[in-house]
Amino acid sequence: MKVYNTLTKKIEPFVPNHGKEVKLYTCGPTVYDYAHIGNLRTYIFEDVLEKSLNYLGYSVIRTMNITDVGHLANDSDDGEDKMLKGALREKKSVYEIADFYTNAFFEDCKKLNIKRPQYVSKASDHIDDYIHMIEKLLQDGYAYQANGNVYFDVSKMPDYYKLSGKNPDDLKVAVRDDVEHDTFKRNPADFGLWFTNSKFNNQAMKWDSPWGVGYPGWHIECSNIAIHFLGEYLDIHCGGVDNIFPHHSNEIAQSEAYLGHKWCNYWMHGEYLNDETGKMSKSKGEFLTLSLLIKKGYDPLSYRYFCLESHYRKQLAFSYESLDRAVSSYQSLKNKVKHMMNEVTGEVDENLFHDYQQKFKDALSDDLNTANALTVLYEVLKHDMNNKTKLALIEDFDQVLSLSLLKVEEIDDDLKQQVLELIAERTEAKKEKNFARADEIREILKNMGIQIKDTREGTTFEKIS
Ligand code: AMP
Ligand code: ZN
Repeated sequence: MKVYNTLTKKIEPFVPNHGKEVKLYTCGPTVYDYAHIGNLRTYIFEDVLEKSLNYLGYSVIRTMNITDVGHLANDSDDGEDKMLKGALREKKSVYEIADFYTNAFFEDCKKLNIKRPQYVSKASDHIDDYIHMIEKLLQDGYAYQANGNVYFDVSKMPDYYKLSGKNPDDLKVAVRDDVEHDTFKRNPADFGLWFTNSKFNNQAMKWDSPWGVGYPGWHIECSNIAIHFLGEYLDIHCGGVDNIFPHHSNEIAQSEAYLGHKWCNYWMHGEYLNDETGKMSKSKGEFLTLSLLIKKGYDPLSYRYFCLESHYRKQLAFSYESLDRAVSSYQSLKNKVKHMMNEVTGEVDENLFHDYQQKFKDALSDDLNTANALTVLYEVLKHDMNNKTKLALIEDFDQVLSLSLLKVEEIDDDLKQQVLELIAERTEAKKEKNFARADEIREILKNMGIQIKDTREGTTFEKIS
C-alpha cells in the first residue's frame, strides 16, 4: 500500500512498525453540537482507511478520543470554550451536553455505516495521564509555569514545524494581530498544557493538580489517549487538514518530548468539504447535519457514496445538485444489484473473482483511490461474467465501500406511514394548486428512493432502491 504522508509531503510505501499490525489513531469529535456533514466526510475517510487496511490483510487497532473538555473555539489558547458555549446555549450542564452529542455522533456514524473504533475514550477520563505527562515535561525542561498555567515551550523542539511546513515568522505576524494574545507565553506558538488561570470562571469541568485546580489544554488529550491504548509507537495518525496546525504539531511536540523518540510514522489528513463560501463549518451558512439531509429525504448512504466518488485529499464542493447526481448513481447501482439478485446464475468464476479483487486492491493501495475502486465495481457490473460471480465481488468490495449494496430495502411500517403522509400532503397541495409544494414532495420521495405514479385510482408508489 502507498499513502500520502503529510510529514514527508510524499506518497510513500506503507510499512507498519510491527509486521501486519497497524496502530491507528484518529482525532474524534468535540461534542458540543451535532457533527456537520463536513466533519462526517473526515470520519468516512478514516473508516475507509481502516477497512481498506483490513481488506489488504492488515489487522488494525484503532483508537479515537471524544473531546468533552479543553477545546477552544479557534484552536489557539485564546478562543472560546466550545463545551461551555454549548452548555450555555442549551441551559444544560457540560456533562449532559457531552453525553447527548456523543450519542448523536455515533447515531450518525451508524447511519453512514462507519464502524466504531475499537477504543473510544473521553478526554475527561484521562486526567491522571495528563498530569503525569505534564510533570515529566516540566521536569525535563520542555514546559514552564506562568501566570498559573503550564505551557509547552516550542523552542525546545527544533523540528516543531516539520508537519505543518509553516514559517515561524509568518506566525509571529499573525499572532501580533490577535488582540487577545497571551502575554505570559515565552513564544507565540507555545500552547497550554494545564490551565488554572483561565478567563472562563464558570468552567464546570475542573480537577485538582500539582499546579492548582484547573483543566487540561486540548492537545494533551490525543497524545495521552493514543499512548494509553496504543503504546509508544503509532503507525498512522489521522484527522482533517485543519488539525495539522496547531493540533497535530502540538501533539507531536509533547509526545516526542515525553517519549524521547519518534512517535508516529504516517500522518494522513482528509481535505475539506466546502460550501459555496469555503470550508463548511458549524458557525456559518446552513448548518448541514446528517439529520437535515434525512429530513429532506436523502438516504445517508448516498452521502457516503458522494464522498467515495472523490479522493480524500481533494477538496469537495457540496451542493444539492451534486448530491442529487450521487443519489441517482447510487440508486441505479442498487437497482442493478437488486435485479441481479433475482437471477443468480452459475458458479463463482474464481479466476475472474481474483482478477477483479486484485484491481480493487490496487485502487485502494494507491493512496485510497476510492473513485477508482468504484470504477472497478462498475467494470464488474458491465462485464459478461455470471451474476453469481458479480454478486460475490460486490459483497467482497462492500466490506470497504460499506454502501449496503446487497441489502434489499423493505418498506417498513414507519417508512410506509411517512410516504402515505407525504402523498396525502401532495394531493392536498395539488388541489390547492400549490404545484411548487407538490413538486417538492415528489422530490423528497425520490430522494427517499420512492417513485410515485398518479393513476385514476389515486397515487401509487414503489421503492426503487
Ligand atoms: P471537531 O468536532 O470540530 O473537532 O471536528 C471533527 C473533525 O472534522 C476534525 O478531524 C476536523 O478536521 C474535521 N473537519 C472540520 N471541518 C471540516 C470540513 N469542512 N470538511 C472536512 N472535515 C472537517
Ligand atoms: Zn487530536
